[in-house]
Amino acid sequence: MQIQSGDIVFVLNPNSGNALHPRQLTAMCRAASEQAGHQACVVATRNPGEAADAARAAHDAGAAAIFGCGGDGTLSAILQGLPSGSPTALGAVPLGTANVWAYETHLPQTPLAAVTAQLAALDGLRGESMWIDTGRVWSTSEDGSAASQRFLLMASWGLDAAAVNGIVGSARRTRLKRMLGEPAYFLSAVREAIGRQAWPVAVSIDGAAPFVVDAAMLTVGNTRMLGTWLEVNARATVVDGELDMLLVEGAPWRALALSPFARYGWLPHGPGVTSLRFQHLELAPMREAPPIQIDGDPGPATAYAIDVEPGALRVLCPNPTAAVLGG
Ligand SMILES: [Mg+2]
Repeated sequence: MQIQSGDIVFVLNPNSGNALHPRQLTAMCRAASEQAGHQACVVATRNPGEAADAARAAHDAGAAAIFGCGGDGTLSAILQGLPSGSPTALGAVPLGTANVWAYETHLPQTPLAAVTAQLAALDGLRGESMWIDTGRVWSTSEDGSAASQRFLLMASWGLDAAAVNGIVGSARRTRLKRMLGEPAYFLSAVREAIGRQAWPVAVSIDGAAPFVVDAAMLTVGNTRMLGTWLEVNARATVVDGELDMLLVEGAPWRALALSPFARYGWLPHGPGVTSLRFQHLELAPMREAPPIQIDGDPGPATAYAIDVEPGALRVLCPNPTAAVLGG
């Protein structure tokens, strides 16, 4: 793979939910790029590490944009290799199970239309490229040093993360996810909620003194949606330099009981359901560490802090009026 300055790099994830045949996809990416006057460089990756390596190479070579061909997990893998503030823009070819980023930013849902629209945004013909915030989760690595992982959409502790971990940890539920798509996460959450106790945690926001809560779920959103079904952070935008937190206290089934409300973007706030914005959050488990998910994949059990990185990522926005983009 030889990436040239100004190229459009496409990262293919052969494991994504409903991918086109790689040959078809490669031909489509090349044709769309050429039509827009760009040279395409298509990279087939076998794992998230290779996608991050491709992103690093794209940045180093001065590529104009890098597209993740897959789901939100593919975008997340690319994000790990793109340095904060890289001028190489992130694009999405929505081919995953949920495609939350594409959904929230109103990208066209078919692959060819999505690529064409984002290349037009790159060239300033229709829409624009925008600098948006990203989140960063800090954890302790095996040797005791600090490790970190960037996120585009959301990180969450508690029931939602238990549902994600339950799918990844079970071959039967992974098959179910391929068959059902997003409802498989809901079924996994029901199973994980049964008989489960809350996770007592100490939470500190923006350097204030920590408070202790029995958490059913604590989500930290750069964007609004948990999957494309549940709007948990209804007022979040990726351009305000802050992250939005939703804390649900009590037994995990309480978080489950709120999901019909979140489905229609109307979460009843009050005792035990809190929303707020922050730039830095620290979380310390008082007993068993709650599970964590980061952009839809299980995260490190030792995660202890989240920061916002304001304006750290350039993305391609054919529809800059999408609410999550601040439009
Ligand atoms: Mg924000």
